[in-house]
Amino acid sequence: MRYISTRNKEISISSSEAIIQGISKDGGLFVPQILPRIEDLEAMENMDYREISYTIMKKFFTDFEPESLKTCIDKAYDNKFDTDIIAPVVEVNNSFILELFHGPTFAFKDMALSILPYLLKESIGITGIQKEIVILTATSGDTGKAALEGFANVHGIKIIVFYPENGVSEIQKKQMITQEGENTFVVGIRGNFDDAQNGVKDIFNDREFIELIDKNNYMFSSANSINIGRLIPQIVYYFYSYSMLVKQKKLNKGEKINIVVPTGNFGNILAAYYAKVMGLPVNKLICASNENNVLSDFFRTGVYDKRRELILTSSPSMDILISSNLERLLFHLSGGDDKIVASSMEKLPKEGFYKINDLNFEDFYSNYSTEEEVKERICKVFKKENYLMDPHTAVAINVYEKYRSETKDNLKTIIASTASPYKFGNTVASAIGIKTGNKDEFRILEELEDKTKIAVPKAIKTLKDKVILHNNNCNKGDMRQIIEEFLKVGVAND
Ligand SMILES: *Cc1c(COP(=O)(O)O)cnc(C)c1O
Repeated sequence: MRYISTRNKEISISSSEAIIQGISKDGGLFVPQILPRIEDLEAMENMDYREISYTIMKKFFTDFEPESLKTCIDKAYDNKFDTDIIAPVVEVNNSFILELFHGPTFAFKDMALSILPYLLKESIGITGIQKEIVILTATSGDTGKAALEGFANVHGIKIIVFYPENGVSEIQKKQMITQEGENTFVVGIRGNFDDAQNGVKDIFNDREFIELIDKNNYMFSSANSINIGRLIPQIVYYFYSYSMLVKQKKLNKGEKINIVVPTGNFGNILAAYYAKVMGLPVNKLICASNENNVLSDFFRTGVYDKRRELILTSSPSMDILISSNLERLLFHLSGGDDKIVASSMEKLPKEGFYKINDLNFEDFYSNYSTEEEVKERICKVFKKENYLMDPHTAVAINVYEKYRSETKDNLKTIIASTASPYKFGNTVASAIGIKTGNKDEFRILEELEDKTKIAVPKAIKTLKDKVILHNNNCNKGDMRQIIEEFLKVGVAND
């Protein structure tokens, strides 16, 4: 399997090279040249998470030795997840909630970031690269911690995380700034997630800086969902949950389903789209936005327009105006038209919008949820169904209800639940009627536990007493400088 750039199909590299590079040199994203078909869905009914992972990933990571790929998978999906099932499905009000938050940092990012470090290590071995890898990551809150957890103390790799100083939840921030590991570096930037993400992309494109890094025997890579090492592992849980439901006789063999995904950077739902193209019986892919509803506007009008203020919502991991992975969808839906993709992507930062004609969006439905609706939904589902969910999941369920009342479609539906409610305790507590006022975050979590009888995860409880190890901040224009300082490669250090 080769990987080609969305902006220039002539650029073609192997899976291990794509995992190391993260982003293509022309600014494009790597996509698999073809999406392989999964012919034997039935066989998956008797496989566990690791076996299905292998069945899918071996079709994409073709330059990995089978045994090494299996080892990566076994090390990733082990008891750092709080359940053997890895991604359980819970039935709530006739839909199936796919809980993707049972990993070490309580958000769905763990599903891919628990394996990425092993894939990267293996890729370094395959390509014979001698340099030390520096992972640069922009985070809207969850990727940062999941990546830090995955890469902490991994020999031969350093990791630098940039998060928007005022754009993440208290718990998310605490998780990151208390991170241990000599090779980790966490920086709050004075700006929003898009600033952080653009800053990282600019650094990847800064030829002079890349040369300086290279001279110092370093090489940049990415843990963001632009890396195919993130994207491919996310296909697995769609096949897995479907097969599990068929095995439990909750779905018939071959029965069509809808999939609902709370969406920010478009990585998770793109993986669901890949699953569909690969043969999973999916009717609609339902893309749920929060009040930053650029995507739902796009699917309705064909115009991607980021000329608006970023709103800080209760679902911060979706507070994004530039959804990177949409670029991949455009490439696929345009039949691989790299020229159109390149010109649209170059237009976006300059003019703030682009319009693409004649794309067929029939696989998708999109809508958004307001802050008010999110709180109401958390409350309603808790009171009626005794199921407690986080604000991102509530965005998804609420959009699904809109879809149902608009279309009257009653097909069975899988809804991706992307975070533990305890990661966003403040919002969740106040939604179900706990007075939060000026109370300390951890006090609120205790009250939430008392009221719901759902235990606060231990790793969140113990955050309270952890020492802050990262006290770094910078302006969005100074990201390069702070990287130079951390790596000791600046002019001053020459
Ligand atoms: C990252 C994240 C999302 C958005 O996923 P994308 O792949 O960026 O679309 C949704 N919910 C939570 C909790 C997240 O951490």
